[in-house]
Amino acid sequence: MEYDVVIVGAGPSGAAVAKGLVNEGLKVLVIEKKKLPRYKMCSGIIFKKSQEITEKHFGKIPETAYVAPHLLKGVRLWPDDEHFSDWPFGKEGSGAPNVWRSEYDYWLIKNSGAEVRDCCCLKTFKDSGNYVTLECLNTLNNETALITCNYLIGAEGGVSVIRAALDPEFEKNLRWYVAYQNYYEGSSDIDPYFYHGFLNPQYGNVYAWFNVKDGLQIFGAAVKKGVKINPYLAKYTEMLGKRFGLKLEKLIRQASCMGNDMCVTGRFYLGKGRVLLVGEAAGFLNAFGEGISCALSTGLFAAEAVSSGIKSGNNALALYTELTKLERRQTTMSWKLGAKIAGRDLMPF
Ligand SMILES: Cc1cc2nc3c(=O)[nH]c(=O)nc-3n(C[C@H](O)[C@H](O)[C@H](O)COP(=O)(O)OP(=O)(O)OC[C@H]3O[C@@H](n4cnc5c(N)ncnc54)[C@H](O)[C@@H]3O)c2cc1C
Repeated sequence: MEYDVVIVGAGPSGAAVAKGLVNEGLKVLVIEKKKLPRYKMCSGIIFKKSQEITEKHFGKIPETAYVAPHLLKGVRLWPDDEHFSDWPFGKEGSGAPNVWRSEYDYWLIKNSGAEVRDCCCLKTFKDSGNYVTLECLNTLNNETALITCNYLIGAEGGVSVIRAALDPEFEKNLRWYVAYQNYYEGSSDIDPYFYHGFLNPQYGNVYAWFNVKDGLQIFGAAVKKGVKINPYLAKYTEMLGKRFGLKLEKLIRQASCMGNDMCVTGRFYLGKGRVLLVGEAAGFLNAFGEGISCALSTGLFAAEAVSSGIKSGNNALALYTELTKLERRQTTMSWKLGAKIAGRDLMPF
């Protein structure tokens, strides 16, 4: 084999698997389709559990990853335009790191110690029973490369070509939402030390959010796939203008991405044969879209399971299934709690 393990995706889940396997002395390759450091649509809040796992396994988050304000005080949830409830970060309101994902993720993957190949996109793969062959495209020169390994890890985020190939029937039954996010130069009088969630379904049939990073006014909403976002965003932006004095001066970035309902329904997909899925690819995403903590923890569990598979001949997938039991329960519980707080189903489709 060229590699003991190939990991597809250089997000936090991929970095955690890589770190765990490199620590076990295994030969690991991470492939990433984008050029690193890559942009990732995210609010970039490192919740307590994410911070603890990061510091334990990777060290202190470097200053270069932080944005202003450095620490956020908590989540502020708005059931309507006038009332809110605060959910502080940390016991004494110690705060949660506010980062750019491009920098945080790049630091994680470099710190994993694994070989990393960016601009390398997985196209197809074949599990031959005792090894896996990947066909990858180098997006810089359009050349195809074949790579062989003992185990393959899908850490590709919510849209996973590996999951889709392993189980097309499972994939067909997923329900999808699309999240949109705008980044503007401008101003507002909304408290920048909080991450704001707006639960009025008029602003997004999942929900809508607002936060400030390095002075940029960042806001977005998620709706069922196929539903037009513009009427929702128009209403939401109008409310932000009237209620919080939002003034938009220059559009810096507009982004979108897709997610699915695996996390809400508890239909996790952990893998098949020599292929394991981690993070959002496996369905791990907590209520209101917190996904870094479970990406890191499931990545570490997969590393433990695969290492045991390689070194002791144990069934890696069975061990991974066992290790993720609590994380799966917590994920589905978080959505139940989220629905209770919101007073409605957060994915009503
Ligand atoms: C708007 C928004 C706000 C969010 N805010 C937060 C937050 O504040 N805090 C939090 O904890 N979570 C947040 N999340 C969730 C969080 O971003 C994700 O749950 C987390 O990034 C999942 O990590 P991952 O490693 O599983 O996947 P990702 O971080 O998505 O990484 C997957 C990687 O795989 C690569 N890839 C995909 N396909 C291929 C392929 N075929 N070949 C090679 N590479 C491939 C992708 O380019 C990507 O780099 C937010 C999500 C959204 C959409």
